[in-house]
Amino acid sequence: ALNQNLAELQGKINVSFEFFPPRTEEMEKTLWHSIERLSTLKPKFVSVTYGANSGERDRTHSIIKEIKTKTGLIAAPHLTCIDASRDQLIEIAKDYWANGIRHIVALRGDLPEGSGKPDMYASDLVTLLKSVADFDISVAAYPEVHPEAKSAEADLINLKAKFEAGANRAITQFFFDIESFLRFRDRCVSVGIEAEIVPGILPVSNFAQLQKFATMTNVKVPSWMNGMFQGLEHDAETRKMVGASIAMEMVKILSREGVKDFHFYTLNRAELSYAICHTLGVRPMA
Ligand code: FAD
Repeated sequence: ALNQNLAELQGKINVSFEFFPPRTEEMEKTLWHSIERLSTLKPKFVSVTYGANSGERDRTHSIIKEIKTKTGLIAAPHLTCIDASRDQLIEIAKDYWANGIRHIVALRGDLPEGSGKPDMYASDLVTLLKSVADFDISVAAYPEVHPEAKSAEADLINLKAKFEAGANRAITQFFFDIESFLRFRDRCVSVGIEAEIVPGILPVSNFAQLQKFATMTNVKVPSWMNGMFQGLEHDAETRKMVGASIAMEMVKILSREGVKDFHFYTLNRAELSYAICHTLGVRPMA
């Protein structure tokens, strides 16, 4: 049955990969090795994050440029609006367009602690970008609701506003509770969102770190996952395999539910994402 499923999937699945700017020479090597390996899977696009307030927008841009030149892939910089004025954002957008960048992942960014209501939300950034040029824009979506949202309803209305402003697709926050993703996808349809809601897949290898991150981002870590990683605190190799098997199971179920596009939070590593893609029938072209 699995083989049959694979045959049906082959050629129908689109994947994209997310990377972050490396901080050391060693990390840089790992990144480029990963990009090379994952580029053979012909992703629809790859993206490079930009940490709001990190002051590293230029590094994101230079990696994007390098990916484009070295691999020919479509490369999308992440751009946040929390840490720049409208005029600055217009300049950045013009500069990206002039450099041949047509795809952007448009985000608000996390609010610095103690800050008040922001001047701009991601929907405003989408409007601004579209006023500069006809970018292809991805935005963020939260199946388990963004931590600051007044309600799930308000968060959904915000997502709809991002599409009305011109976004082309939404990439979700990572999740492990497939039901919440599927319910969320249904709710998107019920408010008239027709664009693709692309699940963000996080292959987990560091469970302790995940637990911290999940709390910050309002993502539920199901108790069965605790059980899966129990006793592996000092066994990175087995953790990796367990993480891969969880993600493989997730994408298998999601693809049976009709999901055709997957976004991978690679954490700059190729092996887990590559293996998961393999099980989805996404393989290097002959
Ligand atoms: P928004 O869509 O603006 O929403 C933020 C919050 O404000 C939500 O709670 C929403 O419901 C609420 N809201 C929206 N509009 C209004 C309004 N008019 N009035 C009141 N409330 C409103 N962060 C980075 O710094 N760099 C990255 O590269 C990065 N990449 C990411 C990629 C993905 C796929 C995802 C899912 C997240 C990423 N983030 C990144 C994190 C993101 O910046 C944070 O989650 C941030 O807190 C919200 O960004 P947003 O674009 O979803 O904001």
